[in-house]
Amino acid sequence: MSDTLLLNSNYEPISVLPLSVINWQHAIKLMYLGRVTVLETYPNWIVRSERLALNVPSVAVTRDYFHFKKTVKFSRYNLYLRDLFQCQYCSDVFDYEDLTIDHVVPRSSGGRTNWLNCVTSCKACNHRKGSLHNIRPMHAPYRPDYYNLVKKWQEMPFTVKQESWNKYLGTNKEVAA
Ligand SMILES: [Zn+2]
Repeated sequence: MSDTLLLNSNYEPISVLPLSVINWQHAIKLMYLGRVTVLETYPNWIVRSERLALNVPSVAVTRDYFHFKKTVKFSRYNLYLRDLFQCQYCSDVFDYEDLTIDHVVPRSSGGRTNWLNCVTSCKACNHRKGSLHNIRPMHAPYRPDYYNLVKKWQEMPFTVKQESWNKYLGTNKEVAA
C-alpha cells in the first residue's frame, strides 16, 4: 500500500499523477540506505524489530534530485480528470463508476485510444451515440498539460494519509479514516 509520500530533493512530490507514494517497508529500507531523509512520521504507528521501535515514515525526501518527466499518461482516471468528470455529450457530472471512455471516431472505424480521440461519457450517452453518427462532444479532445491536470487534481475530492501531506501537495484534504 501507499503509506509514505515521496518528495524530490526540492521538497515537491516526485510525481503527482500518479502520486509518488511507497509502502512503509520500502521507505524504511531507503532510509537505512541513506537514500531518503524522513520528514514526518505517523505518531501512533510504530513498528518493532528485535532491537528497536520506529515510527512509520509518512513523508520522506530523496537525497538526489529525481528527473521525472512531466508528461501525463493516458489513463481512465486522467481522462476523466481532464474533462472534470463531466459527460461530454449531456454535460452532467458523474462518479467514476458511472463513466466510460468514448471514442470520438469509433474503434470500428479505426479510431485510436488516446488523448486526441477520447472523451469522458456517461454510459447512457455512450450507448446512445452508438446508433447516431453526427453527435459531437462539447469540447474537442486534447492532450492536457501536466501542471494543468495537477491543478484539476488538487481540486478533486480525495483523502490523504496524514494531515501533513497537504502542505506538500498544495491541498487541504481530510485525512482518510
Ligand atoms: Zn451523458
